Amino acid sequence: MKRLVVLGGGESGVGTALLGKLKGYEVFVTDKGTIAEKYKSVLLNNVIEFEDGEHTRSKIFSADVVMKSPGIPDNVPLVKELKEKNILVISEIEFANEFTQAMIVGITGSNGKTTTTLITHYLLEKAGFNVGVAGNIGDSFAKQLVEYNYDQYVLELSSFQLDGVDKFKPHIAVITNITPDHLDRYDNDFDKYIASKFKITKNQTEKDFLIYDADDKVITNWLDNNITKATLVPFSLKENLDYGVFLRKDKIIMKLNKEEVLMSVTDLKLQGKHNAKNAMASAMAARLLKVRKETIAESLSDFEGVEHRLENVQKINGVQYVNDSKATNVNATYYALECMDGATVWIVGGVDKGNDYADLLPLVREKVKGIVCLGLDNQKIIETFENVVDVLVQTAGAEEAVKVAHKIAQKGDTVLLSPACASFDLFDSYEDRGIKFKEAVKSL
Ligand code: ADP
Repeated sequence: MKRLVVLGGGESGVGTALLGKLKGYEVFVTDKGTIAEKYKSVLLNNVIEFEDGEHTRSKIFSADVVMKSPGIPDNVPLVKELKEKNILVISEIEFANEFTQAMIVGITGSNGKTTTTLITHYLLEKAGFNVGVAGNIGDSFAKQLVEYNYDQYVLELSSFQLDGVDKFKPHIAVITNITPDHLDRYDNDFDKYIASKFKITKNQTEKDFLIYDADDKVITNWLDNNITKATLVPFSLKENLDYGVFLRKDKIIMKLNKEEVLMSVTDLKLQGKHNAKNAMASAMAARLLKVRKETIAESLSDFEGVEHRLENVQKINGVQYVNDSKATNVNATYYALECMDGATVWIVGGVDKGNDYADLLPLVREKVKGIVCLGLDNQKIIETFENVVDVLVQTAGAEEAVKVAHKIAQKGDTVLLSPACASFDLFDSYEDRGIKFKEAVKSL
């Protein structure tokens, strides 16, 4: 019997353990932290051996294969040692992939993964496909293989999931964009992060497709200097393309064998240029899977958007409150500010992963009338913007931030929570931050 050791007892770890057990592995789950009660009971009910609060070496180094959860960096001593001893260390996606024939659409990028994944899933489901959605969203891919029998999967893939792939091959890969993020996990080397994103295409063949943002210089530069066998399908907001999907005036044009007008970009329910890109990438994935263009257009005109991503919360006294709590880096916030129509009170701050706010200066000058800092350390934000906006106030909680923003905003303005930072100084997660923001708005 082969031995599977699972490092990390969270969603992907427990899913892998269940799949491993079903496939006849002797499974052991180990977590240096605490395994949540809900996962412990799954392991107990399925008679899967586990430990938490420690790593017992003898039980780990006897593995034939190790699944490392995406949260564990590659450079921790245990992982390094496993690799030195030539024990195969893979990600959940790689492990699960061995046990399915399902057709896979894999979606990665620095921003827009969840949105693009959910749009693509929606388009395929509306077209009648028996399709699942997994990856960084909801139940893990491995667990879904245990519980369901989908013919296709749309997978959201983080760079950490992709780091641990070897044979994984999506039929359709999407790279939404690449901007610096998580560089602490890549020795502060942007090239390493880029290489990790492109692992999505490493096993693709001529019969597979890589959909990518042709306006993104990081992506096009990699493609100019590296090889992928996949058929390249670009999308662009700026250029007319010979092949791919692009805008002509306000019409979305798809060009594969022939040219087709998909729909007008103003008929998309989702706001913002970035969402037009996400929609174009998703539409192309669906079209390559032979979904009718009428079905795609109809579905895109009613896809509502995703919680915590430019989510309209409420209008109070003529002021629109928008929750973009998932904007945890400067690039995401850039797009949020870009699609603000009127004057904006911007709530920003948190744990910054090495942000350079300079890119935001023109948009802030043009659109932002007041800044409300929501973080423990706001120094960089203050230094960059104090001479650019009329009001800048520091706050240390969602309720306070919303009250201050409410005072600054006037009829016709927007209050935008788009923090450009992670949330861990004041909140449990970006979801917690978004929910507390919405609660504070509702109790104004
Ligand atoms: P991810 O899953 O990659 O984190 P999400 O779809 O959850 O991406 O969106 C994260 C943040 O990035 C949100 O603030 C959203 O408004 C913004 N965003 C979404 N799509 C894009 C895009 N294509 N380019 C830049 N920012 C985007």
